[in-house]
Amino acid sequence: MADRYLRFTGTAPGRFLTRRLGLPQPAALVRWSPERPALDGGLRHLTAGTSALDLAPVLARTGLGPAGAERAAAVVLDATGVRDVEGLAGVHAALHPAVRSVVASGRVVVLGAPLDLADHHQAAAQQALEGFTRSLGKEIGRGRTVNLVRLTDAAAAQSTLRFLLSPKSAYVSGQVIEVGPLGGAPAAPDRNRPLDPDRPLDPDRPVDPDLPVDPDRPLAGRTALVTGGARGIGEAVAATLARDGAHVVVLDVPQAEQDARRVADRIGGTALPLDITAADAGARIAEALPDGLDVLIHNAGITRDRRLVNMPAERWAAVLEVNLASVLRTTDALLKAGTLRRGGSVVATASIAGLAGNAGQTNYGASKAGIVGLVRSLAPRALDEHGVTVNAVAPGFIETKMTAAIPLFIREAGRRMNSLAQGGLPADVAETTAWLAHPASGAVNGQVVRVCGQSLLGA
Ligand code: NAD
Repeated sequence: MADRYLRFTGTAPGRFLTRRLGLPQPAALVRWSPERPALDGGLRHLTAGTSALDLAPVLARTGLGPAGAERAAAVVLDATGVRDVEGLAGVHAALHPAVRSVVASGRVVVLGAPLDLADHHQAAAQQALEGFTRSLGKEIGRGRTVNLVRLTDAAAAQSTLRFLLSPKSAYVSGQVIEVGPLGGAPAAPDRNRPLDPDRPLDPDRPVDPDLPVDPDRPLAGRTALVTGGARGIGEAVAATLARDGAHVVVLDVPQAEQDARRVADRIGGTALPLDITAADAGARIAEALPDGLDVLIHNAGITRDRRLVNMPAERWAAVLEVNLASVLRTTDALLKAGTLRRGGSVVATASIAGLAGNAGQTNYGASKAGIVGLVRSLAPRALDEHGVTVNAVAPGFIETKMTAAIPLFIREAGRRMNSLAQGGLPADVAETTAWLAHPASGAVNGQVVRVCGQSLLGA
């Protein structure tokens, strides 16, 4: 699993040799740890054109102080006011002198406005920001990331900016994230009411959903369920949600019960041995969670690779069943039963293979593209009707047992073919999932966020 090349390029002789040979130069990324909860340095706030956003109070809450002229951990460029090609000159004027000052593993976040389809000059200029962001992401190097956030209300983007301007987003680059207006998921006036009227009120559940959320434990008092939580990415997601305060139910197949219990014990959660493809899986989850559920993470997934000409129907069916059909079925069942509480969230797991396609993975690519369709369709309705957000993460090459089994040369290509020239870690997917699951992220809905270091595959 270890990326020996990354370690080698971190040494002086390794750096010298790989530079001389023109080989990739991956930077050791700075990731979140209790000892290093914030980026190292200050933040510079720039504006192109005139902006109506009230950003200062939001940026003040990122925990980053103002940057000096020479060195910035992060640069935020507000380009929401750019309405035409002339206005784009302001983007160049602002960032051209500032990029050099961004430290290794630093952040550039560009803020854009939604496209105004009634004004093709505005739409052209705002769409231009996507090409700009993705191009800068590919050239900036040294572990630095560049992302675009489209927003109308700075306060609604608070949790998104906190995430992007922190070490938690180390492997998220080249992304366009749309943040809706404030209000997002409506608060639940009866959040403390048990679903079963015969059960007494649980004194440990939070009483007032409008109480300010503790940014260090935003999921305190909430219950989360992670499918496929016994190992790999699911295990990291379970641990991260528990760190953020949630009681986590670790669901995995009965054969993995021992591992699920080990994970659950470590994070103070509960194991739920259950095959998610069981026809009554939704009902059994609802039964196991009589007090309801706030966060539903669809992480369980399998691959059964073969080229289409050699793929028997069973391989096709198994992948579609675990990765897509069971996700649709359990989501429907838990929304219908009211198990998923208002103010809650669903985060499903897509893949860059579902966006770009991958040889030998017609079944897997279809299943993961299906997740994207599910998110796009269900997100607005689930929010309207149930007060629940629906988003997806789309991992790229993540260092797990699954990717360690890939033959060496294909594995090396997978690792290096992204702007950060390295694979991501399960923690990178977990942090992105946790941000989408936080109650403060209610204005982020219907998004598919790639955690792929800006992979060259796909958009
Ligand atoms: P993994 O194989 O290590 O773990 C998957 C877990 O899901 C296992 O514990 C497994 O027992 C469980 N699972 C499988 N079928 C199940 C079922 N029917 N019911 C309940 N649990 C079941 O995989 P991973 O690498 O941690 O991947 C997790 C998710 O991320 C998957 O959806 C995968 O498709 C996706 N993904 C992974 C990568 C990567 O590079 N590792 C890239 C893109 C997407």
